[in-house]
Amino acid sequence: MLRLYDTALKAVTDISPQDGQTLKIYACGPTVYRTAHVGNLRTFLLTDLIVRAAELADFETFVVQNITDVGHLLNDSEDKLLQQANLEGKTALEIAAYYEEIFHKDLALLNIIPSDVYPHASETIDLMLRLISLLMEKGFAYVGKDGSVYFAAQKFAEYGSLSGNRLENLKPGHRFDGAVDENKNFHADWALWKIAPDTRSELVWDSPWGRGFPGWHVECSAMSLHHLGSVVDVHTGGIDLRFPHHEDERAQSNAATGEEVVKHWIHAEHLLFEGRKMAKSTGNVVLLSDVIEKGFDPLALRLAFMQSRYRTQMDLNWDVIKAANVQIEKWREKAQAATDVGFPVEYEKAFTEFVLDDLDTPRAIAVLRDAEKALNEAAFADFLIWADLFLGLDLDRAPIEVEIPRAVIELVEKRNEARAAKDWVGSDSLRDEIAGFGFAVKDTPSGTEVTPL
Ligand SMILES: [Zn+2]
Repeated sequence: MLRLYDTALKAVTDISPQDGQTLKIYACGPTVYRTAHVGNLRTFLLTDLIVRAAELADFETFVVQNITDVGHLLNDSEDKLLQQANLEGKTALEIAAYYEEIFHKDLALLNIIPSDVYPHASETIDLMLRLISLLMEKGFAYVGKDGSVYFAAQKFAEYGSLSGNRLENLKPGHRFDGAVDENKNFHADWALWKIAPDTRSELVWDSPWGRGFPGWHVECSAMSLHHLGSVVDVHTGGIDLRFPHHEDERAQSNAATGEEVVKHWIHAEHLLFEGRKMAKSTGNVVLLSDVIEKGFDPLALRLAFMQSRYRTQMDLNWDVIKAANVQIEKWREKAQAATDVGFPVEYEKAFTEFVLDDLDTPRAIAVLRDAEKALNEAAFADFLIWADLFLGLDLDRAPIEVEIPRAVIELVEKRNEARAAKDWVGSDSLRDEIAGFGFAVKDTPSGTEVTPL
């Protein structure tokens, strides 16, 4: 049985598909106006781990992840996409297409299994308009003084039960969309449809209430209800989305259907890098391309992530990524000995139990280390290959073979001669020359080892 930490329940709980077969998952996707940093990627990995764990629990999965290419408001009128488009001198669609491509590439580099559907906000405006009309009919939405449509938070009695932010405790100005807004009836109401200013020419659509654009929260409700219906077994996202995004989404979806649509909200915790929160404002942003530029396998980042559980805050740094890179190379080397002879079933059992126990990846990885000590080469190799179905580290890939240049081999031979003649000065200067080619020499009882620096 798969168990995960449910944010609303504040407890680890059993997860199974309502229909007994296919676990329906909705994952909050990226707003494609910039490259996702490694903290965002850790959140996207959570959905992949759930998909792979579901396989160990013998469930199928169906995953929907939205691409926000419109409507992610910085405040009630600025759109992140449009702002970036202005900055780069491109159209909003060009910006969205560019950053979406990077998003898919980054996910592929991390062996994140693609979602079954990637709906785009800009292509599902009609779904949002229908949902907003339904909310109007049911009395959960109203037209504000500026002609925009707002969700009436007070009409949804259970508001706050996901995040704990009850309406009576929310003060005006505590929300992402800023201070008291005269256009709304109540400060915690949020825009479902914003009437566009005349100056806005991009990302605007006609609606029964006038030309405008959707709010961000309504997008996820419209898409999840359309693609998954009124049962979403698991909804994933970063912990920062719990409020207001997920609280508002829950209100919209439940108000529209009269049902508790999302059965379990699962959140990934923040990632720190070198002890600091990753944010553009502090200049502390690390991208997957930075990891690759430093010469690391992108899957080293995946292993580094899995060394912490998804719901613990993780403090990542370059040493951790480097160590993970070394580890992957070692395991790839060892996995070459795989023969299909099999391995003791208790290792499979222990690994599976830790994975299914709220994705306890650090302990699952510890089982690998135990097996490494206890099993013979062939059995451990077979265990690695099996475990990699979940780990996704391409352990069956041959380790990188570095060819040692002829010149280096000659220098090593010269150095061996110098050492035999006890010419230590000459030997040291040859060592420096070899280092100049990017190689290190190490003298071992079995001879001289040459490795890339
Ligand atoms: Zn969302």
